[in-house]
Amino acid sequence: MRPETLTNTLPRRSVLATTGGCVLASASITGAAGQTDTGGVSQESFAIREGTAEETTVYVTTADADGPTAFVIGGMHGNEVAGYTAAGKISNWTIEVGTLVTIPESNAVAIERGTRNDQHGNNLNRAFPEWSEPETELARAIWDVVSKYQPDVVIDLHESTGIYGGDVTNGVGQAIFTGTNSDEAAQVTDFVNRNYVDDSDLVFQVGGFSSPDVQPRDLLVHKAARDLGADAFLAETYSGVALEKRVQWHTAIVERLLKDGVSPSGILSDSERTVESQSQTQTIETASVDSGSTTDKPTAKITTLPTWTSASSVQKGETITLDGSQSKSPTGGIDCYEWKIGPDGTYEQAGPKIDVTVEENNYPVTLRVNSNGASDTDEITLSTGC
Ligand SMILES: [Zn+2]
Repeated sequence: MRPETLTNTLPRRSVLATTGGCVLASASITGAAGQTDTGGVSQESFAIREGTAEETTVYVTTADADGPTAFVIGGMHGNEVAGYTAAGKISNWTIEVGTLVTIPESNAVAIERGTRNDQHGNNLNRAFPEWSEPETELARAIWDVVSKYQPDVVIDLHESTGIYGGDVTNGVGQAIFTGTNSDEAAQVTDFVNRNYVDDSDLVFQVGGFSSPDVQPRDLLVHKAARDLGADAFLAETYSGVALEKRVQWHTAIVERLLKDGVSPSGILSDSERTVESQSQTQTIETASVDSGSTTDKPTAKITTLPTWTSASSVQKGETITLDGSQSKSPTGGIDCYEWKIGPDGTYEQAGPKIDVTVEENNYPVTLRVNSNGASDTDEITLSTGC
């Protein structure tokens, strides 16, 4: 078992102003069936397998501005709760350009039963053979949606009872599998590891798709990549960790992919960094589309230097350089950078970059940036992994 206390040592990110503690305006998007328009984004939903036990909802969010299409699916396996919980939240995200199609609870029967497969033992994520018709009614209905929207990127959210160690025998958790864009998957795993993983046993790795004639085969991501040429990613979290943490990982992975992994420039807006912070408080539904409330606030961002340094595997006593110069302000430059180092630190150091000597495991460092009277913080946890 992993310690449940993981959630107490999360890096905290916040785009809320630290002065005044104001709350972001809620978007008026609803998850309900039908169509809602709000600020250049509309959402509609419809059912597939309607009138059957397999009936489930497809959510389609469309921005006024043209752009790429992303498809996110959860619940292919009914006992993988974090995947469909995260996908449900993601179905309410707003986007800057393009289209976001989400099927959060793709295998409703298995979810209802709390089992991996449906009542007939059908494994939904083995029902998508490349270059031929999917094998079940439900798989065909899902594939019809994928085919209709021709997504540029497909993301499938899963969980595993074991951790991926380079082969699949001991499980596939804490990994992003792709056959199309391992560079992007590596960037996403690095991002998530740096910001959301504080246990070296739980760092995310990148895995490749098996070839068409090798098990496991006939996965949805395989078919999307091979039949449609989509960039396809399958994200697996380790189910031995608290649900809240696993949901946070899934949402962080998808958020990063929707920002960076959908050419040319992502479909989430910069202001959707709100999702990053709010994913920790389980209130993603309120992520702001009304950018009027956030556009005048800066966004603090800590990166490690050199960039390949991992914050989750530093040595005790090691000195690591942290860079705040990737922070942004929509109203001009950052007026000041302040750093709080260590669990009992105060904002004593200033400047865009600092050197930090890691004194203990899970060593927190917080950056606060100010711009035109508004502020934002970002926090990173430096872990020695022991
Ligand atoms: Zn699964």
